[in-house]
Amino acid sequence: MELMYASTRDADERVTASQAILRGLANDGGLYVPTEIPALDVDMDELAGMSYQETAYTVMKKFLTDFTEEELKHCIRSAYDDKFDTEEIAPLVEARGAYYLELFHGATIAFKDMALSILPHLLTTAAKKNQVKNEIVILTATSGDTGKAALAGFADVPGTRIIVFYPKNGVSPIQEKQMVTQKGENTLVVGIHGNFDQAQTGVKKMFSDAELKKRMDEAGYQFSSANSINIGRLVPQIVYYVYAYARLYANGVIAKGEKINVTVPTGNFGNILAAFYAKNMGLPIAKLICASNENKVLYDFFTTGNYDKNREFVLTSSPSMDILISSNLERLIYWIAGNDAAKNAELMQSLSTSGKYEISPQMREQLNDFYGGYTKEEETAETIRSLYKETGYVIDTHTAVAAGVYQNYKKETGDIAKTVIASTASPFKFTRSVMNAIDGEYDRMTDFELVDELSRIGTVKVPQAIEEIRNAKVIHDTVCEVEEMPLVVEKFLGIE
Ligand SMILES: *Cc1c(COP(=O)(O)O)cnc(C)c1O
Repeated sequence: MELMYASTRDADERVTASQAILRGLANDGGLYVPTEIPALDVDMDELAGMSYQETAYTVMKKFLTDFTEEELKHCIRSAYDDKFDTEEIAPLVEARGAYYLELFHGATIAFKDMALSILPHLLTTAAKKNQVKNEIVILTATSGDTGKAALAGFADVPGTRIIVFYPKNGVSPIQEKQMVTQKGENTLVVGIHGNFDQAQTGVKKMFSDAELKKRMDEAGYQFSSANSINIGRLVPQIVYYVYAYARLYANGVIAKGEKINVTVPTGNFGNILAAFYAKNMGLPIAKLICASNENKVLYDFFTTGNYDKNREFVLTSSPSMDILISSNLERLIYWIAGNDAAKNAELMQSLSTSGKYEISPQMREQLNDFYGGYTKEEETAETIRSLYKETGYVIDTHTAVAAGVYQNYKKETGDIAKTVIASTASPFKFTRSVMNAIDGEYDRMTDFELVDELSRIGTVKVPQAIEEIRNAKVIHDTVCEVEEMPLVVEKFLGIE
């Protein structure tokens, strides 16, 4: 039976999985959600014997029902290959009584690779299925991580081009170097004189520019988005929770059916929503522990039922979680509203006009499986330091937020269920913050000295992604004003 996708804001809209992937966002501004969550009707003993790729097929075929077996297997094979530095793809590491699910073994050493390495293949397959003849042009504004992961995913994928805009002075030196050294004939990286919000606004403007759209179409192009609200990014993220559970079971850590907790360092609410979907497929998950940094909108939401983005934006050492509007939360709101698109649309309208909304007590009751927590900057750093001193295991700043919140949760509740912590970035991606947390003395070293020192003290090899940029040539040196963004795009596509 075909699983359809509905918009969270329009009760009448129904599209197939491939159409939802192609469109990204529904026309009414809503997000696509599966009309029901398919059951994980596979025996755990069978899952325990599966590779990551086999698990991916088992889970994803339930959601992407209009993809043929051959198509989906091709997408999975093309994504989870030797771009990952371990055959396990997402290994589990035990440290201090928790199980770290390392989601950073892909091309750009952050968890965005888990979805962005497969999205280009899902997208080009979806385009073929829907008789789209145009070349797909991915347009992205980035504050650092997403841009590089999208570039790596789309580079040299036939039938696609990718253009990334980043704030020239708003990303870390390692992040910038990762982007401007990107290879691939179909890639373009552009720094703008402006901040991330301006880059984002500029991109959104181009998406809704009808005249540009028409000229693109005449030249054989159309825009698409690799944004985290695309269902083609959410579905691949469900896989690793199933895989992690199956590994724990296969290794004798848990009994069949034993419930585990999952802790996720959260920003846009995509990663933890994938865990929620896994739970609703039937995976034995008890608590979903949602960890925030000092931008603790979600903690406040889970503790009060009020979502309120009207507050000061804090720059933290876990920048990929510095977010005040968690876009994917809308999918959970729709769910707890009983799939009521009108009710959800009303709340989202309130969010866009007043920056806040409040859910009803009935809706709140359905959030019992979630636990919200947050850490302050000192606590995040202390978590990195103490974990390293006690075990030798080095985690990044985002993962440390989750580890800190989990510790507090355990103390507060006494819950000793086995717990998986989503480890979302390699410590090498945020070397300076990580090393400073371990010892303030490190601050005088250069970025690459820190990389080597981290490798030494953590006894881990420097990841390929970092080695590559050490001496890599700068390929992209375009810098433009915010107003010039459309011109740069037109020039790249040869339609000016
Ligand atoms: C994007 C990101 C997050 C947040 O994930 P969401 O799905 O947006 O909640 C956490 N950690 C790292 C390293 C990330 O890049």
